Amino acid sequence: MGTKANGAVEAGAGENAAQELFIGGRTRPASGDRRFPVHDPATGEVLAHVADATGDDVAAAVSAAHAARESWSHTPAWQRYEVLRDGADALRRDVSAMAELISAETGKPVREALGEAHNTVRFFEWFSHETLRLPGEAWPEITPTRDAIVVAEPVGVVAAITPWNFPAFMVACKVGAALAAGCTVVLKPAEQTPLTALFIARALHAAGLPDGVLNVVPTSDPASAGQVFLHDARVDCISFTGSRAIGELLMREAAASIKRVLLELGGNSPVVVLDDADIAATASRLVQARYLNAGQACVAANRVYVVESVAEALLAELGMAVRALNVGDPRRDDTNLGPLIDLAAVERIETQIDRAVAQGAELTTGGGRLKENAVSAFVRPAVLTAQGGQEPAVFSEEIFGPVLAVVTCRDEAEAISLANDTEYGLAAYVFTGDADRGLRIARALRAGSVAVNGALTSEPQLPFGGMKASGLGRERGRAGVEEFLELKTIQLAK
Ligand code: NAP
Repeated sequence: MGTKANGAVEAGAGENAAQELFIGGRTRPASGDRRFPVHDPATGEVLAHVADATGDDVAAAVSAAHAARESWSHTPAWQRYEVLRDGADALRRDVSAMAELISAETGKPVREALGEAHNTVRFFEWFSHETLRLPGEAWPEITPTRDAIVVAEPVGVVAAITPWNFPAFMVACKVGAALAAGCTVVLKPAEQTPLTALFIARALHAAGLPDGVLNVVPTSDPASAGQVFLHDARVDCISFTGSRAIGELLMREAAASIKRVLLELGGNSPVVVLDDADIAATASRLVQARYLNAGQACVAANRVYVVESVAEALLAELGMAVRALNVGDPRRDDTNLGPLIDLAAVERIETQIDRAVAQGAELTTGGGRLKENAVSAFVRPAVLTAQGGQEPAVFSEEIFGPVLAVVTCRDEAEAISLANDTEYGLAAYVFTGDADRGLRIARALRAGSVAVNGALTSEPQLPFGGMKASGLGRERGRAGVEEFLELKTIQLAK
């Protein structure tokens, strides 16, 4: 299997391996040979007709993961490390093909897709090392007649549900950590981006991951897959990244069996810009923090609260920087923004801009669709402005696209108060020329990750996750592996 120059998937000899379910170490069609099309959002072209798992197929994947669980969890850590390290090496060898596939499925510029593919390799590699560092404790003579040990055991079978915006990296964060912890996994990738997930699973398996340890079930019926994950007692944990609405649904229904649920949900990340900030540098870093991946990132800067003495200067710099962004063909090296994931996403963004304007905001830059191609989903990056105290209600929603809202505030106190006035708490940003002030404000902002004077980068060592309605639990870092472990205390009478 490989990808053609245009990103379309080439089948392996004799079978469409790239487009089949991956269960128990084998590729296979879905029951009744059901299929659904996967599109290139830049052209509307059909990339593949992918096997469409039914509830029965998902249950078969759970059986495979359950059957592999005992053996994988008892595989010595050193051996698990070697298997995962070899998997990371295999992905590294295929990093360009992975990037082409990511770009084809999501429409993100190939340069950005290559960054995601390299990050995916880096995270799998880091998680392989974490296999060797799983926690444990020994408490000799906890009483005069007893020793005790605390062992960390894998939680079991993990159902991983991933979104389309980072189709490889989101898989690395969940699957890498769960496999390192000794869990087995059934992965349900997003409907728009199943090919990247299948590519990763086949590469890890070819590098030595045993049958059934990782299974992938693309489907056009996510609710049925979700029901299997929720109600099959062999699934021990659901790790979900996506919208708040689906996160709530999973959490509510998982309550019936007290199943462990990890949630990485949406954000509405605020930015505080103070009077002592370097305004040109702030504008250029805000462009990175908002318009990467055409604004379709959960940590993207959504709302900027800028103090009034520097508001005009910031808006001027931002306007210039945003107008200079190239929107177009993801395969060109000079493209900054590709299309949004689909036309429905474009319509959502247009509606949000229209509502903001109707509610008193001013559209100072961009907005609107590129008209050149009727089937594609390109929108012009936009900036909306408003005054503190007169913010349009739409600014309190997550805007999952290339639109930055800028609100002028009286002072630092008002900026912090408005920044924290949200039900979300995934990420936040502060820009200031004073390091102490930056740290103080970073501590005052209620978010799982805060960047001072920059955009956030994804590093495997750093835990990531949301406060408030942005989620439960952490991914990445040591904490991200520990979410897939359970502590067992054993007391040993002497
Ligand atoms: P979504 O609609 O919630 O979809 C996410 C995943 O859930 C997809 O695989 C989807 O399948 C699946 N799903 C949908 N309905 C389901 C159900 N009833 N049961 C089980 N699974 C179900 O989210 P999205 O719009 O694709 O993604 C954007 C959202 O994700 C944004 O809010 C963004 O902030 C958030 N996000 C958060 C993080 C983070 O780390 N916190 C990272 C990235 C994105 P289908 O594809 O078939 O619909």
